[in-house]
Amino acid sequence: MRTHHCNELRAENQGETVTLTGWVNSSRDHGGVIFIDLRDREGLTQCVFRPEESSESAKASHSLRAEDVVEVTGRVEPRPEIDGNSTVNPELPTGDIEVAATALTIVNKAKVLPFQLDKELSNEDLRLSHRFLDLRRPRMNQNLRIRHRVTKAARDYLDSHGFIEVETPILSKSTPEGARDFLVPSRMHPGSFYALPQAPQQYKQLLMVAGVERYFQVARCFRDEDLRADRQPEFTQVDVEGSFTDQEEIIELMEGCLSAMFKAGRDADIPTPFERMTWHDAMNQFGSDKPDRRFGIQIEDLSDLFADSGFKVFSGAVKNGGVVKAINAKGFSGITTGQVDKLTEIAVNHGAKGLAYIQVRGEDPSTWRSPITKFFNEEELLGLKDKLNVEEGDLVLFAADQWESACEILGRIRLECASMQSLLQGREGEFDFLWITEFPLLAYDEESGNWSAVHHPFTRPVDGDQEQLQQGNYSNLRAQAYDVVLNGHELGGGSIRIHEKELQSAMFTALGISEEQAANEFGHILEAFEFGAPPHGGIALGLDRIVMLIAGEESIREVIAFPKNNKGCDLMSASPAPAEPVQLRDLRIKTTVPDPEPEA
Ligand code: ASP
Repeated sequence: MRTHHCNELRAENQGETVTLTGWVNSSRDHGGVIFIDLRDREGLTQCVFRPEESSESAKASHSLRAEDVVEVTGRVEPRPEIDGNSTVNPELPTGDIEVAATALTIVNKAKVLPFQLDKELSNEDLRLSHRFLDLRRPRMNQNLRIRHRVTKAARDYLDSHGFIEVETPILSKSTPEGARDFLVPSRMHPGSFYALPQAPQQYKQLLMVAGVERYFQVARCFRDEDLRADRQPEFTQVDVEGSFTDQEEIIELMEGCLSAMFKAGRDADIPTPFERMTWHDAMNQFGSDKPDRRFGIQIEDLSDLFADSGFKVFSGAVKNGGVVKAINAKGFSGITTGQVDKLTEIAVNHGAKGLAYIQVRGEDPSTWRSPITKFFNEEELLGLKDKLNVEEGDLVLFAADQWESACEILGRIRLECASMQSLLQGREGEFDFLWITEFPLLAYDEESGNWSAVHHPFTRPVDGDQEQLQQGNYSNLRAQAYDVVLNGHELGGGSIRIHEKELQSAMFTALGISEEQAANEFGHILEAFEFGAPPHGGIALGLDRIVMLIAGEESIREVIAFPKNNKGCDLMSASPAPAEPVQLRDLRIKTTVPDPEPEA
């Protein structure tokens, strides 16, 4: 049976007898004549049940309710004029016609739904607990299609550049990507566990040793970490690795891949190459390694100006090797006390003791409202005005701390000001793609006294810094690592890798991993590096985030068919759940060590 889909029939089909299948989107009774909008994956078609066409169908149509599954056969007719008024619906692609039903089969009735599909629902948990209904909404259906097209575009693009998709294990060994592992107990090896991959990092490097040279995978990754709008315990990466390559080649490849994904997902033409910024500049100017540059509010350095200030909070910070930095939130002097409190709370949560600010009420500094300007001398006031282009109506906010903390504090404050001032409203369609390069290789944790890998332990130091790593000088080492950022979101990140055993061992030593531990946890990769490992590098793109941005959504949950809620639960299938006794029994019985085979 050839059926039409519900977004197919047009005026040209007039007179044809057709069959449509789908769900009753809505039904209306107009003086005993029933109209339904029939919905399927493609769209809507109006069907009308008139007793003169088929009294039986017309009678049955009275029982139709939202979400019943039906099959309708009828004749395509132009929508009539009623009392001189056209009933054409210009909003609908099928709005010129309707199907005058001659037969109706009610395939399956639907119960009253727990929520209406044509209304936005703020209770996300309710949506997720009936996700199979929630996904029927056209917006969600559209998001799944966008995701399909975007994923296909990435696959096609990489395939056309000689990359092959290779699947790597899900039951695997822990690989450090900075999160906790999910563990799966092994029935056959009592007391032993598989770790779900945080990323296929080691496998893809081993594939390079295996001579694959160009690998990719649409790979599911698992990280047991706290959830946010753009994080899920399981998520998908477009994971890529190449041999005999360098940063330039990977950047160029990914620019092409991202452009293809945006073209396929929303028909956007993304100009390449993307701009680049070093990690230092990004932190220094925007206080973030994923800066949103669509609005101004850049961070300025005032350390020189306040180095000898009578305001000891500022001069003291500089004397302690720190900095004084500030931003000017233009036109925001009317900030409310509540908003000041909110900004102060953000600063304090990021390690500041408070938040110094000036509400610029007029040209003359004597009119400024601020708890601190009384400590500034003439030169400081003028210098400040000049450096930050201070004008009436502005709000100046300060941070005085060690460089990285001051940058981070103002980076957060800057984003909150932009949100309070609605600076990004209506600018969702602007795409500011940016590469961040020259990340630090290692970060020092004051509390534990340990160094940790900023990217991951397999990242290669820049050429000049490799000896430093081997000699145990860990400060200020730079990595051959790069992130691609869009509008304040990290879309992906990668690096050129270490491919030599000695250098990898030096990296493990820097991270405080003993030789024995390295042999236990990473022996396979260290060993592989001794059998002719090619130089290699790669990247992973966060597919969920990319699709979220392409679809114009604010949470990755809107572009994942069956996401976990913000507590990590799948509310529909009620997981996680206690294991069934029978599952536990299986585990227990089989995990007891078997009796030794009787000697033959
Ligand atoms: N495995 C890395 C990550 O998940 C990406 C990469 O280095 O290729 O962030």
